[in-house]
Amino acid sequence: MEWLLWAEHILVSLLMAALVRLAVTEGLQGVLRAVLVGLRYVPGIGELINWIVRMMAAQFAPQLTGGSSSKKDKKPPRVALPKKGLSYEVILEEMKRLQKEKDADPHAGRMFAYVYTLKEDDASKIQKEAVEMFMEQTGLGDDHDRFVQEVYQSFLHTNALNPLLFPALRRFEIETVSMVASFLHGDDQVVGSLTSGGTESILMAVKAYRDRARKLYPQITQPEMVAPITIHPAFEKAAAYFCVKMVHVPVGPDFRADVTAMEQAITGNTILLCASAPQYAHGIVDPIPEVSAMALRRGLPLHVDACFGGFMLPWIEKLGYPVPTFDFRNPGVTSMSADIHKYGYGVKGASVVLYQSTDYWRYQMFSCSTWPGGIFGSCSMAGSRPGGNIAAAWAVLKAMGEDGYMKTAQEVMETTQFMISNVKNIPGLCILGEPHMTAFAIGSRGINILALADEMESKGWRMERTQNPNGLHCTVMPSHTNVRDKFVEDLTAAAEYVKIHNTSSEEGASMAYGLASKIPDKGLVDDFLKEMYMEFYSKC
Ligand SMILES: *Cc1c(COP(=O)(O)O)cnc(C)c1O
Repeated sequence: MEWLLWAEHILVSLLMAALVRLAVTEGLQGVLRAVLVGLRYVPGIGELINWIVRMMAAQFAPQLTGGSSSKKDKKPPRVALPKKGLSYEVILEEMKRLQKEKDADPHAGRMFAYVYTLKEDDASKIQKEAVEMFMEQTGLGDDHDRFVQEVYQSFLHTNALNPLLFPALRRFEIETVSMVASFLHGDDQVVGSLTSGGTESILMAVKAYRDRARKLYPQITQPEMVAPITIHPAFEKAAAYFCVKMVHVPVGPDFRADVTAMEQAITGNTILLCASAPQYAHGIVDPIPEVSAMALRRGLPLHVDACFGGFMLPWIEKLGYPVPTFDFRNPGVTSMSADIHKYGYGVKGASVVLYQSTDYWRYQMFSCSTWPGGIFGSCSMAGSRPGGNIAAAWAVLKAMGEDGYMKTAQEVMETTQFMISNVKNIPGLCILGEPHMTAFAIGSRGINILALADEMESKGWRMERTQNPNGLHCTVMPSHTNVRDKFVEDLTAAAEYVKIHNTSSEEGASMAYGLASKIPDKGLVDDFLKEMYMEFYSKC
């Protein structure tokens, strides 16, 4: 059999040489195109492809991080702990310099995801009373951020892992959960937890439903959950972490969950249905009343992911905009997630997961009674839970109040509608579907969207690329109010430029999206992404 091994080695070497040549002459795109689905399954080729994927990630990552791909930077020097602690001034100066040099500014209104900041002037008005109450003696000034900092600082070293040690934190958590449950129309049976973010809320819900199914339906050994394809990847993450199979269902042409398709995807192994209010990509709310009715009919629990809309839809609805009934008013909705660190305007690391009753919440809890370190219990993924986040979450809800949220929602909604109606008037562009709140995706009517994104980025905007179909996601925040005219002006000019010059030269992130869409083997794209993430986190 030795000759066979030799033959394979020779074949692999030849192929490798051919691919390296292709990389030199045609660049990375050529190689990627050459790596087709079937190739991976030829013996010996799998390893080769892994090697190519790694090589390409190492070359490509620096284009996105602004680093260098040259050989000599391959291994960055290990950073040592300073032998002698540095002075506060020196550290602060260095940190501010780095932040100024590279980081996006959360207040500049140039980003369309990730940061949710109040405009400074509004913040100071909204929190006036709370600020006075909390900060009479501090002399720190009276804006929202400083208020939150002050609160956070007071709880800097507290830990909510042990609910008995810091009763103040426990109270903040219970009351925060309660406040959110009340505006999401939960009755007095609704319970829940504060978590570190939307992802943790979703992980906890999926874990709870999995454990519930283990208990109630022990015959199910391979649990499944059904969700529209637009559901947030946190559910996919939960599926992967907790061994629940994710069954994705396509959405209709309106980008909303197709309830019939969801029902058809239900099997004897289904333990959970999921829907969004709204889904992130296009800002569109799934038909929750219909999904809820179907869930009741099929005897299945339903999680409504309101991470994005939980702190926006209630106010939009009260302002009179049409919003599908998305919350606990639907009797089939058994749990919800809502992020305080998005439109709740809290600091990063705060979200709420709510359940219809303790019948579901119970399965979220964890305990370990055999540890020599003591009897151990925990309510969520984290062990130690930063108390500052919990205190800040509570304080922000109290300070904003319904009037604060309503006022901000009205302004952000007006900005959104201004942007949407102007985008619709730009030749070559459209809005994907009919967004329900303060987010939308720009679609194409003939324009290369990825080139448009590049053009906008050259004008200083940070764009969010979406796919299937290609689009540009915009979450509208208070900070956009002051730049909305500039946005429309720049977008109009960019669209015209792309149209006239017929540009398609995609760089950086657009190139990644362009490539990904051309590779039929999504497993390969996943492998590439994972390699990229290791690259991102190994070099500055
Ligand atoms: C942001 C978001 C999540 C995940 O929340 P993180 O706080 O980023 O972990 C889940 N679902 C939707 C719809 C979201 O917008």
